[in-house]
Amino acid sequence: MARERIVSGAPVTPDEDILQFTLRPRTLNDYVGQRELKEKLQVLLDAAKMRNESVEHVLLYGPPGLGKTTLAHIIAHEMGSKLISTSGPALQRTGDLMGILTNLNEGDILFIDEIHRLSPVIEEFIYPAMEDFKVDFVVDKGAFAKVINVPLKRFTLVGATTRAGMLSAPLRDRFGLYYHIDFYEASDLQTIVLRSASLLDTPIDRESALTIAQRSRGTPRIANRLLRRVRDYAAVKGDGNATPELAAKALEAEGVDPKGLDELDRKLIRIIIEYYKGGPVGIEALAATLSEEIDTLVDMVEPYLLKIGYIQRTKRGRMASLDAARHLGMKLPGTAQETLF
Ligand code: ADP
Repeated sequence: MARERIVSGAPVTPDEDILQFTLRPRTLNDYVGQRELKEKLQVLLDAAKMRNESVEHVLLYGPPGLGKTTLAHIIAHEMGSKLISTSGPALQRTGDLMGILTNLNEGDILFIDEIHRLSPVIEEFIYPAMEDFKVDFVVDKGAFAKVINVPLKRFTLVGATTRAGMLSAPLRDRFGLYYHIDFYEASDLQTIVLRSASLLDTPIDRESALTIAQRSRGTPRIANRLLRRVRDYAAVKGDGNATPELAAKALEAEGVDPKGLDELDRKLIRIIIEYYKGGPVGIEALAATLSEEIDTLVDMVEPYLLKIGYIQRTKRGRMASLDAARHLGMKLPGTAQETLF
């Protein structure tokens, strides 16, 4: 269900995936915002180039659509190396990973998306590959079992995860750089919208770009998606030029409010306030009441609501804040209001 949300951080349609490819920055210079991360990466890349070595393994953690895959591509581009892409759930058997690892060349970048979903067996298998650039492969079974030690070329693993908490400590420790990508500031998203608009030959002024940016939940992928909705709306309802009013109308028509919340966000807040008296309520109960997957709520809905302080995660469950209630024109039941604020 969430895959169809206009404010989802995940790609929604296959052609959107293709378009994202066009809009994806190729160099660190073109990568907007995230200054601290860019500085750290630049040092890592420069050091590797100076020593003529592969880049240290990098782990990127953050909600979908914030630019983790983009960074993996940028690292490969900046190092002039090849990127091989896979994901945690795609690596089912050690043989799958063995095939990929032994085909890697010196300096290649192996990108593993959703790395928190690697099975424990694959995780064990990947440790020596990351640390000593070798894998121990067991052939035959029982009394005939033999361990073959296969050396690998020095590659770089770039891991991406939306759930750092689900990563085992030994795996996390094997990365040279571990970075949490946070939501983007509206001004950075505005720059991204202007950049994308120019790549898409769409005339847009700074103010309209800001209107889109402010409703993009701090997420570049959503900013690009909303830009296209505004472009279509301006073409059909106006003369093709976006204005801030037209942009706001286009997004309202899509159910995206001035804070970037959509119906699912609002429903979640409403349910906490109405059904659960402001909370606390466990995520399982929330998911059941909303008929949504827990993963969808945890990965796609909650992070932004937490970020803007509309909900709080406590040991006893989720609570709605006074700001959230105000945003929806609701009252927070007494107890929750007093304990929280
Ligand atoms: P993730 O892997 O975190 O889900 P992606 O790397 O696929 O996110 O990013 C989604 C899209 O957002 C990219 O195709 C790109 O167009 C855009 N994007 C992400 N980060 C940036 C950035 N820092 N500057 C400009 N565009 C970005």
